Amino acid sequence: ESVFSHVAHAPEDPILGVTVAYNKDPSPIKLNLGVGAYRTEEGRPLVLSIVRKAEQQIVNDMTRVKEYLPITGLAEFNKLSARLIFGADSLAIRENRVTTVQCLSGTGSLRVGAEFLAKHYHQRMIYIPHPTWGNHPKVFTLAGLNVKTYRYYDPTTRGLNFQGLLDDLGSAPSGAIVLLHACAHNPTGVDPTLTQWEQIRQLIRSKGLMPFFDSAYQGFASGSLDADAESVRMFVADGGELLVAQSYAKNMGLYGERVGALSVVCKTAEVAGRVESQLKLVIRPMYSNPPIHGASIVAFILKDRSMYNEWTVELKMMADRIISMRQQLYDALRSRGTPGDWTHIIRQIGMFTFTGLNSKQVAFMTKEYHIYMTSDGRISMAGLSSKRVPHLADAIHAAVT
Ligand code: PLP
Repeated sequence: ESVFSHVAHAPEDPILGVTVAYNKDPSPIKLNLGVGAYRTEEGRPLVLSIVRKAEQQIVNDMTRVKEYLPITGLAEFNKLSARLIFGADSLAIRENRVTTVQCLSGTGSLRVGAEFLAKHYHQRMIYIPHPTWGNHPKVFTLAGLNVKTYRYYDPTTRGLNFQGLLDDLGSAPSGAIVLLHACAHNPTGVDPTLTQWEQIRQLIRSKGLMPFFDSAYQGFASGSLDADAESVRMFVADGGELLVAQSYAKNMGLYGERVGALSVVCKTAEVAGRVESQLKLVIRPMYSNPPIHGASIVAFILKDRSMYNEWTVELKMMADRIISMRQQLYDALRSRGTPGDWTHIIRQIGMFTFTGLNSKQVAFMTKEYHIYMTSDGRISMAGLSSKRVPHLADAIHAAVT
């Protein structure tokens, strides 16, 4: 008998499990709106042409070798990533108060940042929005932090519960860490306005809370890399400290390459240097050092003005297609006379629409229409195409009537 015979079968991941179920469905009309990955109008994954171009040049460059990167990753990539999120003219960068380390996409950056905080920060309480990306509580708990939630979403308006957010952060213990989605909040698609961000910033700074930004969708929300970084830049501009986890999964379509960065903005260059030395102690026993290929692609694109510009055009094209899917779905429901207010479909931003459909309605749509999504009613607009809008609208209509 196996020594592992007592091991229970674990449940599927609630998000990735949707794709597992989708793959098993033989129906020709099936539609996967579960996972947050961009698809073309033809429903196919997209490799950006700028990524192909960079990759080809990298592959053809015979001087490039496959040596280990340093523990902190590709130095050029780190420098360019900090500039991308904080802005080229960032005072914190000029003052050398930022330390940036290459990590395994957004998830890995969150995990390294969280383990650093658990080891070296005086407060282990982290407040995450309710709801949030399903992996957040697991990443932070396993890193050694105590997870609490703050109110974020108001189901009645399908918008922000701003007062609830202020109340909950206002009563958080001093020094608590606060996880903030930099833009395109997942799963709700609801972001604070800039005026609300300013109020959040004032509250966080006045209470000495520690902001930890999760930036998984820079450029994907509005189509503008700068606009989507505004929230983070407001917090950097006040001179205070913070952490940011960046992912290139969505905005460069580098999902499986696992490219991301963790930045810690500190008060002084001296502190930043010591923080970096401790980040290395977190990373070394975890995976030694990060992979070289994806980070080389990103650095290649970010450092060359014309390649960077080409990237922004492709990025905007993806963002615009998603925005157009919102309008098309909204129009299709209107034309069917589907009961309810569906304006949130066009109000929410980023990759997801938080439809407001409950788990029973979701189960009905999966069973009767072969449409796959997470049970909280979140649909990935990036998985939708003009051709499939009528099918989805029919299913939603049937589910709510
Ligand atoms: N954070 C949020 C809010 C996300 O939605 C995601 C991906 O879905 C991630 C982080 C991490 O993604 P990755 O690790 O692929 O960069």
